[in-house]
Order: sequence, then C-alpha cells, then structure tokens
Amino acid sequence: MWKALIDGMEPLSDSALAAFASGPRASGGLSEQAYRAIREAIQEGWLAPGQRVLELELCAWLKMSRTPVREALRRLQSDGMLVHAAGGGLSVAQHDLRAVAELYDVRESLEGTAAALAARNGDVTEVHILEAMLDSHRRLPDDPKVHARENALFHEHIYRAARNRFLLKSLQDLHDAVALLGRTTFAAPGRIREAWSEHEAIVAAIRRHDSTEAEALARAHVRRGYQLRLAAIAETTQAGPQTRMEQRLRLP
Ligand SMILES: [Zn+2]
Repeated sequence: MWKALIDGMEPLSDSALAAFASGPRASGGLSEQAYRAIREAIQEGWLAPGQRVLELELCAWLKMSRTPVREALRRLQSDGMLVHAAGGGLSVAQHDLRAVAELYDVRESLEGTAAALAARNGDVTEVHILEAMLDSHRRLPDDPKVHARENALFHEHIYRAARNRFLLKSLQDLHDAVALLGRTTFAAPGRIREAWSEHEAIVAAIRRHDSTEAEALARAHVRRGYQLRLAAIAETTQAGPQTRMEQRLRLP
C-alpha cells in the first residue's frame, strides 16, 4: 500500500521544499527539509498510523539522497512519530489515546493557571497586545495552518502575561508535544471562528482581572480542543487508501 501511495505521489516541487524549510526553526539543510516534509505527511494522514515507511521511496518522493532522509527518519523516531516495525524497518506510530488524554489533562490545568495568573498579573500593555492580536486575527486568511501558528503566539503571550517562568517552560514543552499529534484542530469545520471567539472571552476576563472566569474559560477552550483532537485522530486512523489518495492530490 505504501509503495502504491508513493508511486502515485508527485515529486515535491522545489518551491514546496523551500516552504517546508522556511519555518522559524528551519536550518535550511536538506535533512531539515526532509524532516518537515515527512512530518507533515504523517500529520496530514498521507502516511497513516501503522504504515511502514521505506527509505528509498522517501528518497524518490523528496528527490534526495539517503543521508538527509536517514537523518530525518532518526529525528522522527526520537520524536516518537516513527517506531520500529515488526520484522524490521520503521512504521508510523499509532496514537496512544491514553497519552493524548494525559497530555490534554495537564494542558487544561496549566492553560487555566496561565489565564488566571495573567488576569492577576497582566498589565495594561499586555492586555493591549492581546487585544491587538485578536484584531489582526479577524483579518487573517481562512487557512487552518496560519491560524494554528497565530493561536500558538496568542497563547504564548498569555503565558508571558502570567509572569511565571516555570509555567512558561512547562507550557512550551507541552506545545512541542501537541505539535506531534497530527493535523491542527483548526482544520475542523467552524473551529477557526469558534476558537477566536473563545479567545475574545478569555481576553475580556483578563482585562477585568477576573481570574476565576479567565481560568474557567481557558480550561473550556482546551477541553474543546481535546474533543476535536480525538475526532481528528479517529479520522486519520479510519481514513482508507481512497481518502489518503484524495489528500495526496493536495500535496503542496
Ligand atoms: Zn487557542
């Protein structure tokens, strides 16, 4: 199945490869490009959980030699996105639903605390920055990836307004873990608008210095994200070859 999938894949264009390397953490190296491309293929479900990944076929898809691809595969293995397959080689890791639940439990608690502390400690300037972010988000294109990126910045600003460096560090680690879980939950129909209206309510509570309300709203926001995450995981896991074929046609 993997072979058929790769055979039908258009080789990535140079501009698509460049786009993979243009993110904030890009080193510009070939292995970084390979890492980003394969990671996106897993996150978008083009490579499904449990599916074997073969180095040579990835080389053909990425138009790269084995060295950078091998390096990318090692990184994905240490991220936990790839695992040793029975009988040798690597396959895409299956989602561990218990781990996802544990991750969101901690996130709900930390995001709630961050919002409560921001309501208590955030100054006028920080509230103004949050309001300016809400404003600019209304003008963003309807692209889930763009909104996912802005969402991360928005939350990071709340953590900064909370003024607790240990909380900040814990939340940044959690965000890295969530980023490995798959496609952004902003891809769910209606989620972009829904999430930003939840953000507006959180900022309003922070502006009023209402820490109880800010915490309750932030917790509800994360719980909603968790529901959507579970739905997205179910969709990726159940998507048959036909669905993946259609998704593949939209490869950048
Ligand atoms: Zn959010």
